[in-house]
Amino acid sequence: MKKNIKDYNLDELKEEFIKLGEKPYRAEQVFKWIHEINVKSFSEMTNISLELREKLEKEFTLCIYNIIRKQESKDGTKKYLFDVLDGNAIETVLMEYKHGKSICVSSQIGCKMGCKFCASTGIEFVRSLTPGEIIEQVLAVQRDENVKVSNLVFMGIGEPLDNYDNVMKAIKILNNPKGINMGARHISISTSGLVPKIYDLADENIQCTLSISLHATTDEKRSALMPVNNAYNIEELMKACKYYIEKTNKRISFEYALAKDNNDNLEDAKQLVKLLKGMLCHVNLIPINKIENGKFTKSTNENILKFRDYLNDNGIVATVRRELGSDIDAACGQLRRKNL
Ligand code: SAH
Repeated sequence: MKKNIKDYNLDELKEEFIKLGEKPYRAEQVFKWIHEINVKSFSEMTNISLELREKLEKEFTLCIYNIIRKQESKDGTKKYLFDVLDGNAIETVLMEYKHGKSICVSSQIGCKMGCKFCASTGIEFVRSLTPGEIIEQVLAVQRDENVKVSNLVFMGIGEPLDNYDNVMKAIKILNNPKGINMGARHISISTSGLVPKIYDLADENIQCTLSISLHATTDEKRSALMPVNNAYNIEELMKACKYYIEKTNKRISFEYALAKDNNDNLEDAKQLVKLLKGMLCHVNLIPINKIENGKFTKSTNENILKFRDYLNDNGIVATVRRELGSDIDAACGQLRRKNL
């Protein structure tokens, strides 16, 4: 099997080139062709000798995804189903905001977390994506749309902190000014609450944003929605979040999907205020999106606004997330992996 050249950071690529008897600066040129110029084949690397291009072709693949399907929402959101070249397919979403284009990437093929309201769950977990497979989602979308993506969220299929090393490596490659040059401040990681990894992330000293999928304020309710809460309960989660804030001095974004008659009454809002009082944070309220066979329905607009206002009136900054792409099942929790 050929190695995926997008799995290598620049230093590692230089080492590979030295092993091939090539000068390290050649690795820098090739890195640029891959990540900045975003070519689809080694033959397009015109300042590289034919001999080296042939060598690379023999050793490496550029891991160019096939687009199996592309859907476009009324609101401009685009959802891709990519063939990741091993018989599996994943979804990636491109969203338009005033401040630029934002991409929602998958970190795994399937998900182990089992959240009851999420479509990515309930389907078999296959494996984690490699750094190069994460990055290729960005490059494939940039090639297809001929755009530059400015922001990235790890909110597609999978639990990014369950694929910690590969996600960190992907972020560092994305950051490289000689490549895609996307600053860590433009990258968000969302987690269902893998507590030990939140501590690791806090110690990592990178500038990305952390989002925590909270969704409930008591262990009883949260465990019923999110099995991960049985392993790491709310108290442990909050302790880790406080450590993260103290260590990084960065605001955490708490995601709270509002499901009718489940977690959307005033009592829940009161509990949420108690839980988050005094923390450097922001609450992102998500009107829960319907999934196939899902038991949950969206809160009424009236309830959503009431919930938001209660938080804001009580010192917790809360906003309602705009729903993008729900008409093409591209909204939060609607992504699934597929077999080819
Ligand atoms: N595994 C990570 C990232 C993927 S989910 C995590 O759990 O955070 C991205 C966000 O969408 C999470 O906040 C998740 O809880 C939320 N989500 C999942 N299903 C949803 C649904 N049906 N409606 C609204 N949000 C949902």
